[in-house]
Amino acid sequence: MLNMIKLKEECGVFGAYSLNTNIQKHIYYGLQALQHRGQESAGIAIVQGSYVNYVKGMGLITDVFTKENLSALEGKVGIGHVRYSTTGNNEARNAQPFVANFHNGYMALAHNGNLINALELRQELENEGRILQTTSDSEIILHLIAKYYSKGLIEALKITIGKIKGSYALAILIEGKLIGIRDVNGIRPLCIGKKDDTYYIASESCGLDVIGAELIRDVEAGEIVIIDDEGLRSVKIETNEKKMPCIFEYIYFARPDSILDGKNVYKVRYEMGRHLAKESPVNADLVVPVPDSGIPASRGYSFESGIPVGEGLIKNKYIGRTFICPEQTDREIGVRIKLNVLKELVKGKKIILIDDSIVRGTTMKRLVELLKEGGAKEVHVRISSPPVKYSCYFGIDTPTKKELVGATMSVEEIKDLIGADSLSFLSIEGLKESVGLNTACTGCFDGKYPMEVLGGRSKYLFEKK
Ligand code: AMP
Repeated sequence: MLNMIKLKEECGVFGAYSLNTNIQKHIYYGLQALQHRGQESAGIAIVQGSYVNYVKGMGLITDVFTKENLSALEGKVGIGHVRYSTTGNNEARNAQPFVANFHNGYMALAHNGNLINALELRQELENEGRILQTTSDSEIILHLIAKYYSKGLIEALKITIGKIKGSYALAILIEGKLIGIRDVNGIRPLCIGKKDDTYYIASESCGLDVIGAELIRDVEAGEIVIIDDEGLRSVKIETNEKKMPCIFEYIYFARPDSILDGKNVYKVRYEMGRHLAKESPVNADLVVPVPDSGIPASRGYSFESGIPVGEGLIKNKYIGRTFICPEQTDREIGVRIKLNVLKELVKGKKIILIDDSIVRGTTMKRLVELLKEGGAKEVHVRISSPPVKYSCYFGIDTPTKKELVGATMSVEEIKDLIGADSLSFLSIEGLKESVGLNTACTGCFDGKYPMEVLGGRSKYLFEKK
């Protein structure tokens, strides 16, 4: 039995295709703008003549790349990846892009998302005698494309898309082309940009802004975008699937300055705050955001309620996201390292504390404590999303159901757990109205996933045994 470990595939991808410009630095800066999507490993792969050169490793972009190794990656076509992981499997061999030689050529692939039928596909490939080098579901996609390549590139991609189930935003290098693919439900984001003679694909538009590229459009759900010397062409997969972008990208994961599927993330979060103020008003003196995740919603709440907003919590900007600490104790200390109370501001006041989500409840419990220690008279917690009740199988790192306080406790019990004077969450209706998309995946709140997730199956490819 494989004694493996939870896999987290919550990542950012970037790609560039230029006729005349060396693009390795563009990919570097693009990935830096996407660093919030993954801090565990990073990599860049570049086409250099008839092969692909790459640098990848553990850590942040700035840990992995130096002036020297980046200049050795000179080229006009390439892809990059940042990877996120919490527990286990944060090993160098799972760093992406994956690069392989096959059919006298090469292929490189970067993936954001999670395949829910990875185990079956892996067994199928292994039964055929194929040797997989990593524990990642992303490598399976590479193998499938190679397996069907003799039918022609587009056909191989279509067959692969027909076989893989789950979420995927892909950046691929093959035959000197840059290829972008978004899953048939469009769960994970992917967009196209252009500047001069260079096309880009990126998980989020903030990756385009940093290099001054213009956002052209999103890659559609079930679309294959092929970029080569002849420009950009598109192949649509015939499917009856509904587009269901992940709503948690809007709530927490994406950067506020990004535009996903035509919606600016900051604006959406601001609207969530306004809806929250309408749904759950409270008599108080000051709205305090949890930085940075609660800031846009706190502005919306303040605007709607007329209650002033103030920085009652000050963030140490050099500490990463608390989720990165795998052990619970580390996570608890993490909150204190990250945030401190501005006592002068909160003392004697009734506070409305706003954050985007409660997952395990750790952050909120500590923050209510900190504010009360700092002299706050009352702390009313308002959350700009509904309680997270279900695990995500499509790429967002939510823990198993038993660790989710929203799944195991009532709102009243969570209020007591975190020690707040009152607690309210945004309703699902309020959330949907704020986002304004016709359809979206809200599986983490209502268990309605874009596809059937077989009961009781493992969230990831391998689990701790
Ligand atoms: P918790 O302390 O477990 O209740 O987590 C809630 C905090 O983690 C909130 O401040 C959120 O902004 C943040 N958060 C929510 N989802 C995630 C995620 N998938 N990865 C990292 N942080 C998250």
